[in-house]
Amino acid sequence: MMDRLSAMRANFDAWQVDALLLTSPANRRWASGFSGSAAQVLVTRDRALLATDSRYWERAEQEAPAYEIFRLTDGKEAMANFLAQGGARIGIEARHVTLAQRDQLGGYEGITWVSLAATVEPLRAVKSEEELAAIRAAARLTDAAVAQVPRLARPGVSERAVAWEIEKFMREAGAEAPAFDIIVASGPNSALPHHHPGDRQLQAGDIVIVDLGAQVDGYKSDLTRTFYLGETADDAFWSIYNTVSAAHQAAIAGIRQGVTGKTIDALARDLITTAGHGEHFGHGTGHGVGLEIHEEPRFSRLAADTPIPAGAVMTVEPGIYLPGYGGVRIEDLMLVAEDGAQYLSGAPQTPLIPV
Ligand code: ZN
Ligand code: ZN
Repeated sequence: MMDRLSAMRANFDAWQVDALLLTSPANRRWASGFSGSAAQVLVTRDRALLATDSRYWERAEQEAPAYEIFRLTDGKEAMANFLAQGGARIGIEARHVTLAQRDQLGGYEGITWVSLAATVEPLRAVKSEEELAAIRAAARLTDAAVAQVPRLARPGVSERAVAWEIEKFMREAGAEAPAFDIIVASGPNSALPHHHPGDRQLQAGDIVIVDLGAQVDGYKSDLTRTFYLGETADDAFWSIYNTVSAAHQAAIAGIRQGVTGKTIDALARDLITTAGHGEHFGHGTGHGVGLEIHEEPRFSRLAADTPIPAGAVMTVEPGIYLPGYGGVRIEDLMLVAEDGAQYLSGAPQTPLIPV
């Protein structure tokens, strides 16, 4: 934890601040270890403080031992006293502070608030061994859960029922929660990248996209497999499946420390575009995963030109979606290394489910 404090403070000169105020759940958890739902983290050049109300005093002492716990009692005065520890210029998270909160902060005299587009997100991108252990555990649970799909995805069963059985399996196997609402998209619904599982019953000849993840110690995993309910599938399915699979492989083959998110996105996208499906691949090729299911950095056309660091955990998830017909997405979780990428997910790619 001391390392994280030093890493944050190393930016203070560039940010021109005396302190950093973190209020978003993932950032303050990363900075302090505190996992509760309400707290303010204030890091100065020589102190680390965490303010929270009586619900969390004990938990904060346990989870954030490197921090002085500031026991908030009544409203504005206690908060003013807390914020006064931060000095004259305090950085805040521009992406997370609401207008209402910003107005409120403006009421504290003698403090200049410095709006920062990014605070600890670039630091969060590089995972520690401890973080990787949690992500690996989440990925293993996810692999085990997706292995249940051939048993669960039977004709006559609804998407919602399949999603629930997957969630139940993950929780019983030790996940503290699903990493996000599990996606089960069947038939024409598989053409909708973020379809919400509904009452549609699976039937023979369906494409079924299953996108799932588990959460362990706050850290998430993310995996997608595309299935086809039948002993054999038609050429239309194989044509898009093989294109997506090739795009997935091409992107993974290009990953190494120092590449940009745009480069990796292009490796997958160019292949899909050449196959005539450029307009059927509307989302990015991948995203960082950690305390949040979608975090920095990104494999995207819109990604920053900043190089991807070793130690980043990223998905690779190209897809092709044909309205009215169906779609294919293949997603794996990768660890960026100096000279390549390692799989954190390990589920096989075997789409056919004989029914
Ligand atoms: Zn996913
Ligand atoms: Zn994803």
